[in-house]
Amino acid sequence: MELDVLSIVAHPDDTELTCGGTIIKMAEAGYKVGVLDLTAGESGSRGNAVLREREAAKAAKVLGLAHRENLHLPDAGIEDNRAYKLKIAQRIRALRPRTVILPYWEGRHPDHYLTGRIGYEACFLAGLSRLPLEGRPHRPHKIIYATYYVPVVRPTFVVDITAQLDKKLKAILCYSSQFSPRKDTQNLFPARGNLRETVGSLARHFGLMIGVRYGEPFVTREVSQVDDIVNMPVKSV
Ligand SMILES: [Zn+2]
Repeated sequence: MELDVLSIVAHPDDTELTCGGTIIKMAEAGYKVGVLDLTAGESGSRGNAVLREREAAKAAKVLGLAHRENLHLPDAGIEDNRAYKLKIAQRIRALRPRTVILPYWEGRHPDHYLTGRIGYEACFLAGLSRLPLEGRPHRPHKIIYATYYVPVVRPTFVVDITAQLDKKLKAILCYSSQFSPRKDTQNLFPARGNLRETVGSLARHFGLMIGVRYGEPFVTREVSQVDDIVNMPVKSV
């Protein structure tokens, strides 16, 4: 398989929440998009692994994914160890993505930031030929980090998801086991009644940064190249 985009996340629903609009937009543009969920989210306070995998399969259809799989690492147990990095690297070799989306490398939940860190190292390891891995070496061309869970980080760029917000909300709603019946403003997963307001207001915040209605934020480690300074998007004044 040769994917154009691969989102590597700790839990099913992380992709939908942090970069779902961007994933939908790329799938709509005809790109082959995949998701690699590292855990089944079995340690979450709501739902269970079987239920969450069923929900993830349903959400995959809404996102328009060409591929989705689960590595079944322990939830709330992502570690910076070689075995996990090689497992992810093996899947990168098999799926051969051009662009990889990772969670930002800092944050509140260790599973999230550790996925960002070991995901990066797995991308590197996948390109080394003398490792105990099957298949041809492969290194993604681009790694971008979704910063939606860490909104204090200033994004390198924002993707306009104005036309994709409704579908993003629909994909999030597939995870019905995660919704609390009561108002729960502490949980990252918004309460059902507040979904449009919570997800929409953050997306609005990032959209404003680039002068559109709704957006999703990303960071890159490297500097971007510009060849045409006459046709640059986003107004300065
Ligand atoms: Zn998560």
